[in-house]
Amino acid sequence: MSLSTDANGKSTSTNPAMTNGNESPTTHAFSQLKSDSWSVEKSAQTYGINNWGSGYFRINQNGNVSVTPKGADGYSADLYELTQELQDRGIRVPIMIRFPDIIRERVHLLHSCFQKAIADHNYSGKYCGVYPIKVNQQRHLVQELVKFGKDVRLGLECGSKPELLVVLSLMNTPNGVIICNGFKDTEYIETALLAQKIGREIIIVVDRKDELKIITETAKKLNIRPKIGFRAKLNTQGAGKWVDSAGARSKFGLTAIEIVEGIEFLRKQNMLECLELLHYHIGSQVPSIQSIKSSLKEAARFYTEIYSLGAKLKYIDVGGGLGVDYDGSGWSDSSMNYSEQEYANDIVSTLQTMCDEKGIPHPNIVTESGRALVAHHSVLIFNVMGVNNLYRQEPPTPAEKKDPSIMQDMQYIFEKLTADNLNECFNDLLQAKTETLNQFTYGVLNLTQRAWCESMFFAIATKMLALAQRTPDSADIISDLREKLCDTYFCNFSVFQSVPDSWAVGQLFPVMPIHNLKNEPYHEATLADLTCDSDGKIEKFIDSETGEVKKTLRIHPYKEGDAPYYLGVFLTGAYQEILGDLHNLFGDTDAVHISIHNSGYTVDHYVPGDTVTEVLTYVQYGRAEMVDSIRQYTEESIAAGNITKQEAKSLIKHYEEGLSGYTYLEEME
Ligand SMILES: *Cc1c(COP(=O)(O)O)cnc(C)c1O
Repeated sequence: MSLSTDANGKSTSTNPAMTNGNESPTTHAFSQLKSDSWSVEKSAQTYGINNWGSGYFRINQNGNVSVTPKGADGYSADLYELTQELQDRGIRVPIMIRFPDIIRERVHLLHSCFQKAIADHNYSGKYCGVYPIKVNQQRHLVQELVKFGKDVRLGLECGSKPELLVVLSLMNTPNGVIICNGFKDTEYIETALLAQKIGREIIIVVDRKDELKIITETAKKLNIRPKIGFRAKLNTQGAGKWVDSAGARSKFGLTAIEIVEGIEFLRKQNMLECLELLHYHIGSQVPSIQSIKSSLKEAARFYTEIYSLGAKLKYIDVGGGLGVDYDGSGWSDSSMNYSEQEYANDIVSTLQTMCDEKGIPHPNIVTESGRALVAHHSVLIFNVMGVNNLYRQEPPTPAEKKDPSIMQDMQYIFEKLTADNLNECFNDLLQAKTETLNQFTYGVLNLTQRAWCESMFFAIATKMLALAQRTPDSADIISDLREKLCDTYFCNFSVFQSVPDSWAVGQLFPVMPIHNLKNEPYHEATLADLTCDSDGKIEKFIDSETGEVKKTLRIHPYKEGDAPYYLGVFLTGAYQEILGDLHNLFGDTDAVHISIHNSGYTVDHYVPGDTVTEVLTYVQYGRAEMVDSIRQYTEESIAAGNITKQEAKSLIKHYEEGLSGYTYLEEME
């Protein structure tokens, strides 16, 4: 059959449709979408979990995601069972689940990589990791970091006055290093200087040249010897999404001229020996080791030159930027082309070579890795609320003789479709789709007929996809049909609150079902959140075969009334919680800290999410006035005879319960 369009925009068919309608040649197209066999291993491959999971996440033999902080042979927790058992305790989805055991592993991993590099190279400086709290300031988390970091002397970094106050209250490691970055006023500096007296190693980094004078004056006034760092503005740029953090026009740091002037200023003040640290930061999530090395080379030159000018520096602080492999590809901007060990080796060996050349002692190395320490430790779990499903198991009632020719054409495509004429039918189908719209617009098709055509379109596409999946060389058709048939899964979470970088900077996060993985996920979907914002969706997923980004997620079929279906967004521990906002007044989710051990798990902390009342308070609504106002309206309506007292009571009860409730959708009890 060939479809053509006549001058009136009507399609004509060389083959009149013919059908008796009772015998559909393809009854089981739907289940045909499935492969012949499926396995947990295939699910692991589909979602790439063994690549981005870094050993902390894998699929267990029950087909559920399990959390394994110490790798396959260590203890584990079944994420699906955990999700159910948390709900049994009254903790609600969406849930942010944090795993402190993973944090401990990350802290120790980074430390041991540097220890190994230092030992292998006979490097004479020490390593000191510092956690920048801006990456995730949640109290329990920072407390855990300080606790796990005690034996490796993990320090903290603050970038503002409020962060300094947090750091001072939480850092209880004797001589723990505190790096003070960010814009500073006299109060910030006085607080930092005085806090040296409570046994912390506090280094105030000059981010802007004017700060140097305030630091020296304040120190003299308080009679405290300051420990000063200079942040250098490098010319070498990083790479990746945050590439603008370095370079001559970057916001922070001192230029070469300012550094030379700063040294002379300190010399005049007789304070040159206070300059102990050189800092730089080239941006977050640096995907390439080449950028890390080239910026370090420039910074190391700054270091040796400052040393030659008479400032006997002790530390080089290489900032953050250590990447997290969000997609497992090893090459994209969401990934990295180096391991933590290579990172440490390159830093140590570069510094060694460059200092040895100039005969300068090896500096102690400070890193400010934030993302790499905390990204892995939290998982957001939410349930699917419903599906906008486009797959059609059955075609609509067959078209009849009296129906418009486009309907008969489509009926014909459906019936004649086989593996041998896929291409031809595919083209016919696309044309029929265009025709349907044209004919509806021109008044040829009525609404019921258009609906029939759309149903038939999806029925043909579903059948065609099943056939194409069994036909060699059909990759193009398959990917096109998958996109056309892509479902929208409506999910109980807010992108803006829980994964804001997915929206703001298009960052990729691993997303996958946390259970049912023995079964094939044979649908494709994008995920829509609860907000009314059309940007409130996730439509960037890992294509684990190519390492590219794809627009749809492989997912299990779901329909309302099915048992709850849970998805997880992984590696959300860095930046997401604190950048999250209250779009549409969806607040913080419930959060729990779970430690895993041989005999199971323990719920260490439960941090309840915002209630509606709390969220409303941020925008200046008061619970009492709101309830009072509803009460007045009901009184007026009672007086007017429009509502009964019982109904009024019931309305107020609902209203008050709503104010106390979760901002997300709650399951009916
Ligand atoms: C944000 C920031 C960091 C943390 O960077 P990550 O890429 O998360 O490791 C470190 N240092 C400074 C100065 C920062 O602003």
